[in-house]
Amino acid sequence: IDETTDVPAVNILLSIFAIAAGKDWEKICEIPMGNNISKSLKRQSAYLTHEVFNKYHTETEMMRYIKRLDRKDVSLAHSMISLGSCTMKLNAAAEMLPLSRPEFMNIHPLVPEDQAEGYRKLIDNLSDELKTITGFAGVSLQPNSGAAGEYAGLRVIRAYLEHIGQGHRNKVLIPASAHGTNPASAIQAGFAIVTCACDAHGNVDMEDLRAKAEENKNELAALMITYPSTHGIFETEIVEICNIIHACGAQVYMDGANMNAQVGLTNPGFIGADVCHLNLHKTFASPHGGGGPGVGPICVAEHLVPFLPGHVSFGNAANEVSAAPFGSAGILPITYGYIRMMGAEGLTRATKTAILSANYLAACLQDTYGTVYRGVNGYVGHEMILECRNVHEETGISENDIAKRLMDYGYHAPTLSFPVHGTLMIEPTESESLAELDNFIHVMLNIWNEIQEVKEGKADKTDNVLVNAPHPEYEIVSDKWEHSYTREKAAYPIESVRDNKFWVNVARVDNTLGDRNLLPTCYGCFD
Ligand SMILES: *Cc1c(COP(=O)(O)O)cnc(C)c1O
Repeated sequence: IDETTDVPAVNILLSIFAIAAGKDWEKICEIPMGNNISKSLKRQSAYLTHEVFNKYHTETEMMRYIKRLDRKDVSLAHSMISLGSCTMKLNAAAEMLPLSRPEFMNIHPLVPEDQAEGYRKLIDNLSDELKTITGFAGVSLQPNSGAAGEYAGLRVIRAYLEHIGQGHRNKVLIPASAHGTNPASAIQAGFAIVTCACDAHGNVDMEDLRAKAEENKNELAALMITYPSTHGIFETEIVEICNIIHACGAQVYMDGANMNAQVGLTNPGFIGADVCHLNLHKTFASPHGGGGPGVGPICVAEHLVPFLPGHVSFGNAANEVSAAPFGSAGILPITYGYIRMMGAEGLTRATKTAILSANYLAACLQDTYGTVYRGVNGYVGHEMILECRNVHEETGISENDIAKRLMDYGYHAPTLSFPVHGTLMIEPTESESLAELDNFIHVMLNIWNEIQEVKEGKADKTDNVLVNAPHPEYEIVSDKWEHSYTREKAAYPIESVRDNKFWVNVARVDNTLGDRNLLPTCYGCFD
């Protein structure tokens, strides 16, 4: 019985017990409140005391409060979010529809078989499609994020190694360019890490890889590798890399966060990996960025299928990584809809368009910023790393200043200083039109000109539009304006900004201080 149980239901329950016990009973008209929580466990202190929990107690107020928060957020509804490695693509309305339909939402995968049949079919079909896409034989939908997928995949690898009498293998080889979650998951799963270097072109340094693999031959459990690499390059040696690792008796874990550059063109199974995770909230159209539920399924080759996460409801809970048998099952219809509506041809075309868009940006920005890495054929993958270190050296303007200045132009910053310090990583995805890409390029080139003004002494080194960015409305309209440039240059640097101005809520914040202090002291000032 919980807060959704109504009076008729309680009366039915009472009648069942009364009949079973052969006793009289009386219908009730009201459910008395009560619970069995022991007094010692009941909270005595006050809770949710912050004003925000006590202010919005009517639907009108709540609606306006949520809208106010929404307006503080520069989102995909305003402009491209080019966060490299994050694949911020369209979350189409048609894909999101099931989330507001009771047929999908008022159900749980553990309800009786006949009721859940449709959902199970959706889960099975989706699993089959993910197997086809990755070229693998088995899938688990349990992990709730990419990082959770890495952890689950490594547990599967460990279980397999134990099964073949190789349980002593406890080292994971990870290239220096890897996403931070790779080493974190490896440690969490109880492995020790061996780092291998990257060469000047951003590829795994093959000599170092061979040496490290050989050196740790008998203890090596796995290699974790991202393809295309986090440097945005299709590494030509990827098949050879897998072979080297297999020759040592270890497994290859492919980080699938960059699957948006693979779907329909190649896949981890074809390349020779043994496990990969997918980020349904990146490559497969689920929304992310607001801390909502993610899905990081793992797909595995035939020999690893018996070791996939179990669940009590499957009769075997080995390697279980989530309390629910299919993880965040409620959002699987988004990905299912995406794959079914796109079809094989559509998915392949999306991959090609994503790669084309990144290369278009790389080409248009080549003569100004330039890209840090390119593949042997001169092209980038589906994302690219924009060089900002020369600018910093020559002018003192940092990649951080460029990221902040982009907000004045209505753009969310690209990925900052990852995986290469002093750079910006840009991933446009297939969702952006040529017009939007052109506007972004126009903005980046205009920022380039602003940098040149600093370089040439036309703008002050310590008081310019870049180091003071972003410029919120309260500064622009203030009666006090003491900068060496105009308000118009600060807020409306190009014509297209007038059409779609996004006002940031606060001026420049101290990033490090902000990261270390969860609640700013003036929380609510601009609320
Ligand atoms: C996003 C990402 C991850 C982690 O995925 P989460 O869902 O954020 O946990 C791992 N590796 C790479 C390369 C990524 O871009």
